Amino acid sequence: MAAQIIDGKQVAADMRAELKDEVAKLKEQGIVPGLGVILVGEDPASQSYVTAKERACENIGIYSDDNRLPAETSQEKLMALVEKMNKDPKINGILVQLPLPKGLNEAEVLLAIDPAKDVDGFHPMNVGKMVVGEKAFRPCTPHGIIQLLIRSGVTIEGAEVVIVGRSNIVGKPLANMLIQKKPGANATVTVCHTRTKDLPSHTKRADIVIAAAGRPNTVTADMVKEGVAVIDVGVNRVEDATKKKGYRLVGDVDFEAVKEKASFITPVPGGVGPMTITMLLYNTVESAKRAAGIIT
Ligand code: NAP
Repeated sequence: MAAQIIDGKQVAADMRAELKDEVAKLKEQGIVPGLGVILVGEDPASQSYVTAKERACENIGIYSDDNRLPAETSQEKLMALVEKMNKDPKINGILVQLPLPKGLNEAEVLLAIDPAKDVDGFHPMNVGKMVVGEKAFRPCTPHGIIQLLIRSGVTIEGAEVVIVGRSNIVGKPLANMLIQKKPGANATVTVCHTRTKDLPSHTKRADIVIAAAGRPNTVTADMVKEGVAVIDVGVNRVEDATKKKGYRLVGDVDFEAVKEKASFITPVPGGVGPMTITMLLYNTVESAKRAAGIIT
């Protein structure tokens, strides 16, 4: 039986509509959530991500403070801008688009962000709180993946979850979120990486496989069991002469073959991608509510 395709665009649109209503209600109370955006340099991919994030803010009524700085910006100037945003009551979330150009100290910049405005959830304070199960901003991509599973009706509680990839932005935080003793978690999690012996032996017993390796065909049909739910986080360019750009985007999963065995599967593009920005909006709205004392 072919899998149900999880439509990330639709889930993201539903969540953004809910957030738009929430922002409108906050505005009636004089509260306007604000996101401070910092982009250093002219990397085209980063420019398009930042533009997409700012447009998404505008669409749901979040104010965004756009700061595009030249690649030769000094560490001091960047730190001063973060400090200014930390103090600015109109800013509830600070987003520093990564990677920063060579020569800038990324770790120092991320550490300088007020944890109460760290809507990317990368500050060690928020990472630590998340690990011990305290309230904290949850990193956007893993949080988006969990929302996709929940809103598609995939049971996480008690499930065997195998994550392929252990990065600080996807694999590790996702594993920590899924093992929490909380609703929408309580999973049994295995995290695989390039030193894992016999990857298929792990993926084959999984009820949920999450592929975040950044390599096409990391998960193939012979590596999963019937009825598995598959979330494909990977975004890879493969040459394709039939496309105007000369390439197309694929995930880490052999989508066509795996969808014949799976019960649920996300496409690439149109799966996890749209959720990441949505969760950034979600965190910014949460931050504004917390700053206004509406939630703790
Ligand atoms: P990353 O930092 O490169 O980490 C990749 C991880 O996968 C590493 O832990 C690596 O193991 C592991 N890995 C690579 N090849 C493997 C293999 N053949 N078998 C087992 N493990 C393997 O990547 P990332 O930043 O987490 O991103 C992963 C992918 O997700 C990329 O394609 C990225 O573009 C995409 N992504 C998408 C979104 C979105 O919003 N859609 C957001 C973030 C990332 P080692 O640790 O041993 O090297």
